[in-house]
Amino acid sequence: MLNRRALIVAPLLAVPALILAGCGSSADSGFDAAASDAGFTIVTSTNVYASILQELVGDSATVTPVISSASADPHDYEATARDQLTVDDADLVVMNGGGYDSFMDKMIDSAGVDHVISAVDYNSTYPGADAAEDEHDHGDDESADEHDHDHEHIEGFNEHVWYDPHTVEGLVAAVQTELDELNPDGSDAVATGAEKVTSDLDALEASLADIAADHTGDTAFFTEPVGAYFAEEAGLEDVTTEGFSEAVEEGQDVAPATLLAATNAISGGDVSVLIANAQTGGSETEAVIDAANEAGVPVIELTETLPDGEDFFGWMQDNAKNLADALAE
Ligand SMILES: [Zn+2]
Repeated sequence: MLNRRALIVAPLLAVPALILAGCGSSADSGFDAAASDAGFTIVTSTNVYASILQELVGDSATVTPVISSASADPHDYEATARDQLTVDDADLVVMNGGGYDSFMDKMIDSAGVDHVISAVDYNSTYPGADAAEDEHDHGDDESADEHDHDHEHIEGFNEHVWYDPHTVEGLVAAVQTELDELNPDGSDAVATGAEKVTSDLDALEASLADIAADHTGDTAFFTEPVGAYFAEEAGLEDVTTEGFSEAVEEGQDVAPATLLAATNAISGGDVSVLIANAQTGGSETEAVIDAANEAGVPVIELTETLPDGEDFFGWMQDNAKNLADALAE
């Protein structure tokens, strides 16, 4: 919105003579043409959110992710000048929030994007809107300053919220409401898209409920918290050794005693499935995967970003199928 307003205002200020010569009509038609050519643009932090929103908006808006590569790790992604150009075009930004994709914050500020929706705000375990409001507040609030450098990463909060179908449901509803206001021309397309998303979400929840029904009491060990919401929805008990996945996610070394406890738990038959994240893993992740392979514990992999050539719900259904197959072993 701000960008579009800037486009109209700037030529009026810069070249009043041209505007006067062309009279009101050229300014009006020029604006309409520019608006419909460029269209409404949504920029997302990762290709995960781009895929969800593409299904929602259909061809009523352009959706562009900053991270589109399946191999990039959003946790420590460094934005480029090209990414800034992408964000500069945004009428609406949709991101994860909660410190996960904080590389977006500076670009949003510098682009002056007014409309930002963060998925974490629709997660029932997120410590609340207070942190979200502090996000762009570099003022005198002490707690905001304290979290300045780790960008409001909240200790103990699992920020991989797109693996939680309820969060996706809330996010999509919020984006739909926002788009009805910001891009009313697209409302019909978005309403149709919302029906598709709802039916895909229902199907995904049904797949996970099937796993829960068939595998009551089964357990999961996570090398990184990426799939915890997903496995919880599938009814699995989290038996990850305390401190293991947090250390891996934060890029710290896993303490030797913790690593030993982890490999012992896996070798000892306490773990039904090992859920690994190769995107952010190091030698400790490899050590527990090796332990699982030796003990005959099935390993499945969940990633931070959407694998190439997949769409969000196809990917999630593949994940559910891989999990069901692993538990059936
Ligand atoms: Zn992660």
